[in-house]
Amino acid sequence: MTQPHDPDTDARTALRLLGPDPANWVPDRPGIDHNVTIAGGGQTGCALAFALRRSGIGKVTVLEAAPNEQRAGIWLNAARMNLLRTPKALPGPELGIPALSFQAWYEARHGQQAYAGIDRIKRTDWADYIRWYKHFLGINPRYATRLTRIEPLTDHFRLHLDGPNGVTTETTRKIVLATGFFGGGGKFVPDVLTANLSPALYAHTEDAIDFTALRGRTVAVIGGAAAAFDAAGVALEHGAAAVHLFARRDTIAATPITRSRGFPGAYDNYYQLPDADRWHQAMRYFRFGSTPTTDAIERTVKFPNFHLHLAALWANATERNDATETTINGESYRFDFVIAGTGYSPGLASRPELIDFANHILLWRDRFLPPQAERDEMLGFYPYLGAGHEFLEKTPGASPLLKHIHVQNPAGFLSFGLPIGDVPSMKRDIPVIVSRISADLFHDDLTILRNRMNGDVPPDFSTELYRSAVR
Ligand SMILES: Cc1cc2nc3c(=O)[nH]c(=O)nc-3n(C[C@H](O)[C@H](O)[C@H](O)COP(=O)(O)OP(=O)(O)OC[C@H]3O[C@@H](n4cnc5c(N)ncnc54)[C@H](O)[C@@H]3O)c2cc1C
Repeated sequence: MTQPHDPDTDARTALRLLGPDPANWVPDRPGIDHNVTIAGGGQTGCALAFALRRSGIGKVTVLEAAPNEQRAGIWLNAARMNLLRTPKALPGPELGIPALSFQAWYEARHGQQAYAGIDRIKRTDWADYIRWYKHFLGINPRYATRLTRIEPLTDHFRLHLDGPNGVTTETTRKIVLATGFFGGGGKFVPDVLTANLSPALYAHTEDAIDFTALRGRTVAVIGGAAAAFDAAGVALEHGAAAVHLFARRDTIAATPITRSRGFPGAYDNYYQLPDADRWHQAMRYFRFGSTPTTDAIERTVKFPNFHLHLAALWANATERNDATETTINGESYRFDFVIAGTGYSPGLASRPELIDFANHILLWRDRFLPPQAERDEMLGFYPYLGAGHEFLEKTPGASPLLKHIHVQNPAGFLSFGLPIGDVPSMKRDIPVIVSRISADLFHDDLTILRNRMNGDVPPDFSTELYRSAVR
């Protein structure tokens, strides 16, 4: 009788050959609940939890604000594209263990030929893979548990949590913010919407949008990048009567400019670049614009009821009879619903969970004065991170615990370059963060650990073993 095929055979063998997870080497401290708290149970938080475990760092907890696995991370929520932008062969959360990679997972289920046949990864396949990764590795984020405030104490933090047991507090020595785009600042919704319209008339692409309710409706989408085109595509596929997409630029950004620095030297050493180079790279990215993928555009333009408006800025909006009216470039429009695909703001330092640190976090504008031609107020608000992705202090000594908060979300964009927090950033950034956490914990407990290193070790054998041969 043939055995049923077990798609996890290779992954199990890989873990067996890797050997057991090292025991937790971090000394317990009275009153400390966690050595490391990871805020965010998306792919980044889960991969970090696995890497910390393999480094022998125990007492790690993963907090996830979403109520359940399905709602955590972007893949089954804010991401609405059919295919990932990331090329299928780039390394991701497998962290150097090939049998845990997307390719291995996919081939184990669909065969090598099937993998060879896909050009780019289906978003829903990637979501399935990430779910498998969490379950297979036994990573259990604490769902419905939002980190609301990080309070500094003498040498550790008190975390304020809003979770299944209401508002509670726990203590931790280290924190990693793996909170995604939204947690990196917040969604950016233009004032013209927030100031003039009832919230029921518009949404941001980050929101859970009921697209079935848009059937037969006239919809406006503001923005010209991927999330805007994806939202327009989904609205059209759900039977919207018409979708009008308004982009500020006079052509859609078509040049993925960061590809010019996609080679390993630039990717691996980006942090070592002088500030002026990193600033220039960020400016270059914003000047060329964030590009939608070809298939995101194809998905919309095939609908005759899709209308693209270029060089079209929303400067006015009026609410009338449960709809939005606006005049753009001399034309008047009426929309049942407006979707803002306008991206995210960079205000990490003003996130509520960081309220105790807001005035202490070093920002790029504190550190670097760009040349006149490259001035940009918004970029100046990005945090100026240290080499271990840690916050730095604006005034040395004023908030020494800041170095124990590490950032792995798009707020690190200026310091580490794209694609911070995306799939391709894991290979470079997760080992760096874990190595810094390990070093900090080791040095902070050096007295105890030195005693351990100088401690007694029982002999493996006694002189009896060789006495008979001694001449
Ligand atoms: C529309 C869109 C398309 C994208 N396409 C790609 C792509 O093709 N390839 C690619 O590599 N990247 C893509 N990205 C980037 C993408 O965000 C990342 O690759 C991926 O989601 C990063 O995973 P993450 O775990 O860091 O963040 P997320 O998936 O955003 O997860 C962060 C988690 O943190 C939780 N959280 C936030 N704040 C708190 C808090 N205070 N307490 C507890 N939990 C909290 C959130 O609930 C969320 O579940 C895309 C992003 C968007 C928005």
